[in-house]
Amino acid sequence: LGSSLKSAIQKLANAGKIDKEIIDDVVKDIQRALIQADVNVKLVMKLSNRIKERALTEAPPAGMDSREHVLRIVYTELVNIIGKATPIALEPQTIMMVGLQGSGKTTTTAKLARFFSRKGLKPAVICADTYRPGAYDQLSQLCEKLGVMFYGERDNKDAVAIVRNGLKETQKYDVRIVDTAGRHALETELIKEMKDIWGLTNFTHRFLVLDAAIGQQASEQAKAFNDAVGITGVVITKLDGTAKGGGALSAVSDTNTSIAFIGVGETPDDLERFDPDGFISRLLGMGDLKALVEKANEVLSQKDVNVEKMMTGKFTLNDMYSQLEAINKMGPLKQIMSMLPLGGLGNIPDDAYRMTQDKMQGYRIIMDSMTEDEKDDPKLIGSSRIARIAMGSGRAPEDVRELLKYHKMMQKAMKGMKGGGQSNKNLKKIM
Ligand code: GDP
Ligand code: MG
Repeated sequence: LGSSLKSAIQKLANAGKIDKEIIDDVVKDIQRALIQADVNVKLVMKLSNRIKERALTEAPPAGMDSREHVLRIVYTELVNIIGKATPIALEPQTIMMVGLQGSGKTTTTAKLARFFSRKGLKPAVICADTYRPGAYDQLSQLCEKLGVMFYGERDNKDAVAIVRNGLKETQKYDVRIVDTAGRHALETELIKEMKDIWGLTNFTHRFLVLDAAIGQQASEQAKAFNDAVGITGVVITKLDGTAKGGGALSAVSDTNTSIAFIGVGETPDDLERFDPDGFISRLLGMGDLKALVEKANEVLSQKDVNVEKMMTGKFTLNDMYSQLEAINKMGPLKQIMSMLPLGGLGNIPDDAYRMTQDKMQGYRIIMDSMTEDEKDDPKLIGSSRIARIAMGSGRAPEDVRELLKYHKMMQKAMKGMKGGGQSNKNLKKIM
């Protein structure tokens, strides 16, 4: 999956110009990646049509190249579908958990009790699962461990009556969470029970719990539960596994809701507020797309990095220094390379760019002892000037020589790129 989208973006980066053909090609790869992540086919088509349309009709904003522009469109369109996390008020409320058996309702109920108690609210849990044997014990034990108020009636089979009683018994608690029974499949009996419980009080939230591995059935389940109780938020569980949760996207888009939490493990602490960026990155199987776009922007906006000038004309010491600064600001080159398709930088040894802060500082001090002419054209610097610069900066002459050698090496690499077609583009991309 990851490699598929990476290759799509590689195509984008390598394309001479962005035209319909390349966009079609890239969109096809994105479709493949999303379908493999269990995103509903109809949703994928809708999404890819939007991406195509926008990529072909919207001009990139000033200062952004067309590749970056297309990446940004892909990202913003995904954000549009996924939306922000369901808002959760930190105040007294009642919550009803719904979902099929095994989706993670009971585990999430305990996690939520934990979540609210950490925020200083007193939680109580009501067990309305009279269907699965052992449901009472599972939840009461979880609550005991967490020190959370538990209400249940072991021998009563009437879930609606239990919740009615439970809501009365737990009135003094801030956040009351009702864990309901599921079934293996959607059944009229289950839906009726959910409706009846829903009718008992004005539930602040009705959370639909979905297993990340759910795939295409997500939509049907979401619609059925939404018709019965009106879903206010989705919880995707088991995202610590291999499933990407793409199915949940259909649930969200079909019921017009949003994702509230994600479950990332079996313990009561393994609950996280939903974060759209992280989810999209995971869905696409690549590094954080948003961080990538932001980083690229930040570096591109460094006024001192004049890529054109560097590749067409002189490569001054100041150019070299700004370039090193920009690259070091972006973080380890290897990491950047894994985010961006920058294969073409291969003709510069990877550690050539890796500078410690100390080393950068040292270069700065040496350069401060040079004249503007010398920085502009380091060839002027012979051994007597080296001695003068070393003296002025309090550094050894070897340090000055090293800096000059380094400059020469980078200049050579830069020339190589200038004629190198592909590498040229890739270098522009990193800067
Ligand atoms: P319910 O039938 O909907 O109440 O589902 P349960 O809460 O009993 O969970 C079913 C199984 O999924 C249990 O074995 C849980 O430990 C497991 N489970 C629930 N949430 C997560 C999660 O986020 N990560 C992992 N790895 N397992 C989970
Ligand atoms: Mg359960």
